[in-house]
Amino acid sequence: MSSERLQAFKFELMPDSAQTRLLGRFSGACRFVYNRALALQKLRFEAGEKKLGYAALCRALTEWRHAPETAWLALAPVHAQQQALKDLERAYANFFAGRGAFPKFKARDRGQGLRFPDPKQFKLDQPNARVFIPKLGWVRYRKSRNVLGDLRNITVTECLGRWYVSIQSVREVAIPVHPEQQREIGIDMGARKDWALLIGQDGAMVKTLNAYRAAEHRLKHYQRCLSRKKKGSKNRAKARYRLAKCHQRVTNTRADFLHKVSHHLTRDYGVVCIEDLKVQVMTAAKVNPRQRNKAILDQGWFMLRTLLEYKAEWRGGLVIAVDPVHTSTTCSMCGHNDPGNRKSPDKFECLRCGHADQADKNAAKNIRRAGQARIACGEHVRHRSGGAGSAKQEPIEATRQGPAP
Ligand SMILES: [Zn+2]
Repeated sequence: MSSERLQAFKFELMPDSAQTRLLGRFSGACRFVYNRALALQKLRFEAGEKKLGYAALCRALTEWRHAPETAWLALAPVHAQQQALKDLERAYANFFAGRGAFPKFKARDRGQGLRFPDPKQFKLDQPNARVFIPKLGWVRYRKSRNVLGDLRNITVTECLGRWYVSIQSVREVAIPVHPEQQREIGIDMGARKDWALLIGQDGAMVKTLNAYRAAEHRLKHYQRCLSRKKKGSKNRAKARYRLAKCHQRVTNTRADFLHKVSHHLTRDYGVVCIEDLKVQVMTAAKVNPRQRNKAILDQGWFMLRTLLEYKAEWRGGLVIAVDPVHTSTTCSMCGHNDPGNRKSPDKFECLRCGHADQADKNAAKNIRRAGQARIACGEHVRHRSGGAGSAKQEPIEATRQGPAP
């Protein structure tokens, strides 16, 4: 039994100074193409004309690359520019499907990736740790591991002055059997005023999740520094860079922590039961610090779930998300459900049988039981039959994105 696995391998690029300048220009060209195509679509809309499709936009792009005033576009790779048009198409499609806002013009300071969708467009030389990018040539990268499988596509992105390449590949892998099939863990996320923890049913605290909290003071400081700087000034740009750097550190710390936690959980347990929480999207309207804090914790929780799911699948394990209703007020011994059982955020004491426990531990037991029940009803099949060809994508975004600044 085997399945197809899509995986992205991300490395930092080490372009020389001429290549760095070119990369900046290439990505600027993509942004230009995106914005120009958007302007064109808007004009057509105002004139009551039909929106251009992808093929027509590509024809327009060819014209721009030949026009004398925008001939500089032809110095940058065409594939990446076509991908920028694809991005615009997707933004429109998301808007019409009610999934996103109307497409906006891309500002100068927004990073724009260069995507090369076809393995014919690039080359990978792993022994020499370099990748060939059209119109740029061979660029060295920090090789931390080997890329496995057949190459699919690459994306080059910039983040705070550094360039990265994400190489996606596909390969056949045997569906593994988890060595701890019968070990199950229920996990409750206990949210406190300013921190959170994950607790298993045996009471073992997995770890605290407070990367944001620890850095909040520094973030506020940099935020204040930024707001004092004059708009458009050099110092403002510097302050913005420092703030972004701080945000990035928070994001990386959190991602690192969540990767480790999910790694250990999926390695030691064949079945991980968690709460099926609906994640709130943080909006500007929610300025209440308590709510903001909760939203950030939720984001960590959501990412943890994503990581657990793909890591468990790769190991042959299972993640079960159970209905979170009443898990914190039900007695794990006798099943009696009463809000009064919960004496304080910390303490649980059953009004019927007198069972006393730590509140999060009690909830974790309930979550595990609910997960076991779902397995018993056969809602989850442990062994997937072969040839299903499930291709689970490792969420590379998850390692990049953190809380909305
Ligand atoms: Zn009880």
